[in-house]
Amino acid sequence: MGHLCNRGFALKTTNAMLLVFLIVIASLPAGFSSNEAATTQTITVRTVPLTIKIVLIGFDAQTIDQDYLTWRGNAVQNSVNNVLSTGNITGVSYDLTYDFVYTKAEFQDSLVNYLKSIEQKKLMYNPWFKSITSNYFYDAEKVESWFAANNASYGGFPTSGYTFVFANLTSLPSVTEQQLESENPSSATPHYYATKYVDKDLDYQIRYRDFSVGWGGRNRLWYLDMAAGPEFWTWTSPEAVPHIPMQIAIDLYRFNLHSLYGKQWLTQFLSDYIYDAVLNLAVPVFVYQPVYSRTYRIVVNIIDNRTEKERTAVAIESTIHPELIKEAYTDILPYSEIQVETHFIEASAKPDLQSVIIENTVTPPSDLALGRYVDTRPIYRYLQEHLSEFAGTVKRDSNEVTLPVFAFAFSAGIYFGYTYKWYVATLKLDENNFLGISLGDLALIGMSQIDFKRGDNVSPPQPGKGIGFTQAIIHEAGHSLGLMHPHQFGYLEDFVSSAMSYWAWEYKFSQFDKDAINRAHADQLINSATTTLAEAQDVLNSRMALGSVGDQMASAKTLVDKALGKYGSMQYTLAVEIAVRAAQTASNALTLALATPSWVVMVLAALILGIVVGSVLIFMALRKYDEKTAQRR
Ligand SMILES: [Zn+2]
Repeated sequence: MGHLCNRGFALKTTNAMLLVFLIVIASLPAGFSSNEAATTQTITVRTVPLTIKIVLIGFDAQTIDQDYLTWRGNAVQNSVNNVLSTGNITGVSYDLTYDFVYTKAEFQDSLVNYLKSIEQKKLMYNPWFKSITSNYFYDAEKVESWFAANNASYGGFPTSGYTFVFANLTSLPSVTEQQLESENPSSATPHYYATKYVDKDLDYQIRYRDFSVGWGGRNRLWYLDMAAGPEFWTWTSPEAVPHIPMQIAIDLYRFNLHSLYGKQWLTQFLSDYIYDAVLNLAVPVFVYQPVYSRTYRIVVNIIDNRTEKERTAVAIESTIHPELIKEAYTDILPYSEIQVETHFIEASAKPDLQSVIIENTVTPPSDLALGRYVDTRPIYRYLQEHLSEFAGTVKRDSNEVTLPVFAFAFSAGIYFGYTYKWYVATLKLDENNFLGISLGDLALIGMSQIDFKRGDNVSPPQPGKGIGFTQAIIHEAGHSLGLMHPHQFGYLEDFVSSAMSYWAWEYKFSQFDKDAINRAHADQLINSATTTLAEAQDVLNSRMALGSVGDQMASAKTLVDKALGKYGSMQYTLAVEIAVRAAQTASNALTLALATPSWVVMVLAALILGIVVGSVLIFMALRKYDEKTAQRR
């Protein structure tokens, strides 16, 4: 029985480029970041208030120290938004206010009743136990919808903020310490939130997606059931401290939650989970600086370096659905035009590139247990140097942001590998994996014929089914757009309906992703409008204001305020649309201001005019005098 295994690590190269290098061993896309020129824009930090509503279900208020929970050492109070690849700040600092709601027993009862109504008991293989267990499943999406539909019961969603639900539902079938210690795992009765993901290119159903313990992302809501699990995900991900169900943690240390220390412990325990959710979902960091643009042009080059037999077995055209890429980006960037270009290239049609691939394909000695790999770095260099040949003019400004993606179809058993010093990060032949990397200027994805036919090699088999490029392209281009993984600060938040999650085989972005990007674009435009207005004011201080400059400046200011108003009520796409006009109007005002003459010029002009007029008058007066004297003569 194959099992999922997922590793990642961070590396730093010597050439001053930051590489957050993630390799995913499993059916997962990955990304690492590298160079990006530091932006030298003047940025004034704006404080943005956000409310974090924490809804607690199945917790006794007597066992939690409210004051201690929101203490600076336990809760994020302020978060300066930044960009990992540059270390730059985006220009906002989030000021977080916590709102705690302890739900009543009736609310928990109605939730448990609902869960019971959708419960599915299945005796099946559980990847945490690596054995068959008696699992109780609840549809994760339905549960999220239930929480959203019943938001009035916990005081509604915040006007500006997020709702995180922490439930302790031991009244559902849950694991006990005895079950975990038992020799017979089939007696274990864990409960989970089930998701279902099927690859939209080649129909392969992603395995083990029934075993989640939390969910969210369609709404500005995320829930975690602390009695659910144990889940395999945090145990097979590079998580420092994998997750265990709360009742097991309490049993493990024999804590009495009603004792002084017990209360303190539970408060700290809960605060650690809240901390991760806030950083991963509410105020995420960016991997690259998000750039607002009227147009985003995603240029996908699919480079096919497979044998003729393999090309016949799986048509390259079936490995991608460009319309799904367009849909995902139209959804997250509704105010911009999305263009998706797909080019299918047989590697033999680009002999130079094919030589680079062949020269850098390595077959390591068998005792190293490494698969055959194509070294990524030389390919990256080649593509960087020939970028315009594949992607035309690559831009990153307000008219166009180009997102070049290179997807390689390799022969069975060949993957991308990346060297670091003596180490080769690669993927084993028999694990059917692929690797994706976002480098900021371009993204690389490598998949092998084995992935396209993955269903033939798993147990139970999914004959003729496989994995295509679309999901990985949406994920990697998402990094190029600026988005980081939702598991940056802890893997539990990977249980979210986002294309940036490794767990979810999603073709869309979560509400958290959309908010993050739209907010960053609004911030950029509002900052640009305010800076330009200040500049225009500066110019006008030494010049004579014409009526129209003042009008333009006033209307830009009004638009900035209007954009901030929409931003304040989380209508971020509207905020962007208004901020675009604010930035344009401010820029018009500056142009007009620069065209008006300065006070010095005006005074000089007035003086010159005065002298000229004065001279004429004197001259005429003299003439008159002369005439009079002449007459007298
Ligand atoms: Zn990634």
